[in-house]
Amino acid sequence: MSTTFAEAGSADTIDQLRAVGREFHSRGWSLGTSSNYSVVASRDPLELLITVSGKDKSALGRDDFVRVDAAGKPVDGSGRKSSAETLLHCLIASTVPGVGAVLHTHSTWGTILSGADLARGSLRIEGYEMLKGLEGIATHDTFVEVPIFANTQDMTELAQRIRHRFAALDWSAARSPCHGFLLSRHGLYTWGRDLAEARRHIEIHEFLFEVVARARMLPAAGAPPQPRQTVQQQQQQQ
Ligand SMILES: [Zn+2]
Repeated sequence: MSTTFAEAGSADTIDQLRAVGREFHSRGWSLGTSSNYSVVASRDPLELLITVSGKDKSALGRDDFVRVDAAGKPVDGSGRKSSAETLLHCLIASTVPGVGAVLHTHSTWGTILSGADLARGSLRIEGYEMLKGLEGIATHDTFVEVPIFANTQDMTELAQRIRHRFAALDWSAARSPCHGFLLSRHGLYTWGRDLAEARRHIEIHEFLFEVVARARMLPAAGAPPQPRQTVQQQQQQQ
């Protein structure tokens, strides 16, 4: 009988990933078989433990994961197959310093905004307290530009575009130049030093996507807040 990851000692990690699936499904970010999740199982050589293709994320089983190498090829002999998007997980894990987990979701608001702002090349999120939930950000008085890439089924070509854009960023800066990216009309990729941080980054991004999209429906709420005059200042001017 082949050894499963559960038997090989990764049961806790797998159960944490299964819990992520249940939660993200319940929050509408990973409906049906959409999305995929991975953790770095080995750094040298790089190997990821990633969800198997085509599984309902609300009911992931312990065998719904496969271990792959840096090229996305299975290495555990289980015969299980991961998503075509595995290449993007491998790219992130090998390019972004210190990544321990990569999470991908297909939310309503991320899907809408990534289509709306594709021509701009990125989604700007500015002036929100919740930005502080992204690692390294300590104030609301800032902004992030979430890169948006046109969607495709050609993962090799997409990975090249992402790699090219990542190469222009300064990953040695104290604050990460990028916490995640969007695929147009598709979804979000984000990551973290561990699964907990990556989960938080999904939650923060998805909150901010909804806020930005809803704020566009209320133009007065969409602009970054300007300092308001106090009643006393207004009276002094009168
Ligand atoms: Zn996807």
